[in-house]
Amino acid sequence: MKKKKKTISKKPVQKVQLKKPSNAEAEKAVRTLISFVGEDPDREGLLDTPKRVVKAYQDWYGGYNLDPKEVLNKTFSEIHGYDEIIMLKDIRVESHCEHHMAPFIGSAHVAYLPNKRVVGISKLARITRIFSKRMQVQEKLTAEIANCLQEVLKPRGVAVVIEAQHECMTTRGINEPGISMVTSQLLGKFRTDASTRKEFYSMIKQGSILKKV
Ligand SMILES: [Zn+2]
Repeated sequence: MKKKKKTISKKPVQKVQLKKPSNAEAEKAVRTLISFVGEDPDREGLLDTPKRVVKAYQDWYGGYNLDPKEVLNKTFSEIHGYDEIIMLKDIRVESHCEHHMAPFIGSAHVAYLPNKRVVGISKLARITRIFSKRMQVQEKLTAEIANCLQEVLKPRGVAVVIEAQHECMTTRGINEPGISMVTSQLLGKFRTDASTRKEFYSMIKQGSILKKV
């Protein structure tokens, strides 16, 4: 049987310019949800809830107005030949899954192998936070952090591991508390060189070498 040849449409994809609803419109949508769960949005205790929810959304999804690449723009080259792994451990991750808009919460470890340039270490936490404060899936979040570092800093390698608990799984759906999801994105030397990769994972495993005060 002759197979039909697939034709790819040459039509350019039109980007739809989404109109951002006003606060009042968003608050109205929250009122609808309050009614949907069986409550009275005019009950005294709920009167200000739409306003609060909209404010909370602006915080939880505040990563759209920030450019993570800009955060990494300032680099330092005076590192006296330092060329080993630089890693920020246990960065708190607070994000929301794009399938249920439910929180997923956990930790990220972000590392890179510098190529004559480094960034201020807090910047690794900042870009993690910016990408987290968007609608996410954990796989995408992990890759976005790694790719952003790779693109701007051009290090010899980047490694990102995230472990998180997804409330859409732990508090509903299969309702399984205590399980977490682990994702990792390895680029450059972390991907190609087994000993670099091994060192990265052992740095994650080893406890703090700081004396507990
Ligand atoms: Zn989900």
